[in-house]
Amino acid sequence: MIDVLIVGGGGAGLRAAIAVAETDPALKVAVVSKVYPMRSHTVSAEGGAAAVIGAGDTLDEHCYDTISGGDWLCDQDAVEAFVAEAPRELIQLEHWGCPWSRESDGRVAVRPFGGMKKMRTWYAADKTGFHLLHTLFQTTLKYRDIIRYDEWFVTKLVVDDGRVHGVVAVEIRTGRIETIPARTVILATGGCGKVFPFTTNAAIKTGDGMALAYREGAPLKDMEFVQYHPTGLPFTGILITEAARAEGGWLINKDGYRYLQDYDLGRPTPTPKLRSMELGPRDRLSQAFVHEQHKNRTVDTPYGPVVYLDLRHLGEGKIDSRIPFVRELCRSYQNLDPATDLIPVRPVVHYMMGGVHTDVHGATPIAGLYAAGETACVSINGANRLGSNSLPEILVFGRRAGLAAAEFARSHAGGEAPAARSQGADERRRLERAREGSRHGERIADLRERMQHTLEGAAGIYRTGDVLTKAVDTLAELRERAERVRVDDTSAAFNTELINLQELHAMLEIAQTIVACALNRQESRGAHQRTDFSARDDETYLAHSLVHRAPDGTPSVGLLPVTITRWPPGERVYGRD
Ligand SMILES: Cc1cc2nc3c(=O)[nH]c(=O)nc-3n(C[C@H](O)[C@H](O)[C@H](O)COP(=O)(O)OP(=O)(O)OC[C@H]3O[C@@H](n4cnc5c(N)ncnc54)[C@H](O)[C@@H]3O)c2cc1C
Repeated sequence: MIDVLIVGGGGAGLRAAIAVAETDPALKVAVVSKVYPMRSHTVSAEGGAAAVIGAGDTLDEHCYDTISGGDWLCDQDAVEAFVAEAPRELIQLEHWGCPWSRESDGRVAVRPFGGMKKMRTWYAADKTGFHLLHTLFQTTLKYRDIIRYDEWFVTKLVVDDGRVHGVVAVEIRTGRIETIPARTVILATGGCGKVFPFTTNAAIKTGDGMALAYREGAPLKDMEFVQYHPTGLPFTGILITEAARAEGGWLINKDGYRYLQDYDLGRPTPTPKLRSMELGPRDRLSQAFVHEQHKNRTVDTPYGPVVYLDLRHLGEGKIDSRIPFVRELCRSYQNLDPATDLIPVRPVVHYMMGGVHTDVHGATPIAGLYAAGETACVSINGANRLGSNSLPEILVFGRRAGLAAAEFARSHAGGEAPAARSQGADERRRLERAREGSRHGERIADLRERMQHTLEGAAGIYRTGDVLTKAVDTLAELRERAERVRVDDTSAAFNTELINLQELHAMLEIAQTIVACALNRQESRGAHQRTDFSARDDETYLAHSLVHRAPDGTPSVGLLPVTITRWPPGERVYGRD
């Protein structure tokens, strides 16, 4: 019997595993991951991780930037805990071997980042996620008792009488289906960018954990808040990190004009400044792009309209030392050199502010079930996450969820629940039936594409009631059609079609929650901009959206008050001092 079973081998999952192993070596910990842990999306994070370090910065200022950046939808008790613990987590990583970049005098280097009014973003060049995940992974290897299920795909949570009892998972290599009984489960399955067609997210980010929890009755929170990052490469959606602007990059339109000065984000400065307009928050910058498009000031390309990121004035030396990966990506995927060429960029879906509803310890309303990282909504990100807050979030709340789960496991002994056997057998039959294949019906890829374009059209940077209402119907129809898709692969080994089908079902349910929450929120806040309700409405909507799965499988949306501790709602100001 596993004491703490962690679904996900990214930053949140591995940090949780270490916390459990450290706190009580007698507990049995397992990490299940659909890819080898080092291939989790955390590895691709580039720009950095925020935590107060330098003189002249304070915890309160990091709190305030996060809360105002989130348009006052963050739970302030969660933000305070996060900000207070983030520095300790980053120092702990240093002790485990993370090579933070340094100033010439040996101090940890920090860079400015979007919406952060002080320099507090630690980085390891522009490969921060790679070094962070390596550090965590190699640390887990010291704990030989952490059991790993690499390339196992979890299809179901076993929940009975309001308590979790384990998971059902498929070993991708062999097709073996197993029930893994556990006293507690931590979901650390990352985000769901793949419900949209154009995203920086890896192909594996399909929202599985959110769907697993939602189907068993746990509510999801703030699903309408989808972050667009302003600078993705057209066609591939590969991210050009905010660090490029932090190091002094400019955004220019087709006339070579630094257009952000027209959007109350500040004045153009020749050198990077903390409050430089290119370092406004991501929601505002992505919205400014849409306005430029309407003014005919973007450039049309076969892959959609673009503006340009200009790094030429930084010079080769700075580009190679501070953002070498940006140069590497531009050369490999765009066939250009940022030292001499302009980089075409456009907004791209990047991050989910919403996720499984948890308290500050990662606990969900299902006893023994926890969630941490991008799959969870604690919530510290509110209506718009600030860049570089996610990496410290996965550390702080991965650890917290690990400690809380360990405590729960210690105080809830007992053997395997009968539900694990019966629900496991049902799930096995369902998966075996799916593997029998079907010669009729539509292709998984076709339905996925329809879903992605429906979401982009209805729940993109700007939304409106009519289009959202239509999307509700389209998604309901797509879900029905997904029950009768064509499945050609009937083999057991590496049956990726079967996996893709499970991911499609998860994404469709998640897509429905995004649209339902967006339709319900009749105001504009952070990343959720309704053209038919363009003002923020604190009277009604200073509240989280909480979405449950109704018995007929459709989403049912309610509101939950936001926790305000010390910072009453105010205006978000970036351009003025
Ligand atoms: C390109 C890019 C750059 C970024 N840069 C930054 C940055 O500079 N700073 C910052 O703060 N944030 C950044 N972010 C955001 C941040 O990296 C992520 O939010 C964070 O790493 C998510 O970590 P996680 O542990 O929650 O999930 P992930 O790292 O996505 O891991 C999810 C894990 O869950 C497993 N899993 C999922 N479903 C299943 C299933 N059904 N069965 C079994 N296992 C499953 C996967 O195998 C994986 O191991 C960036 C994101 C992207 C996409």
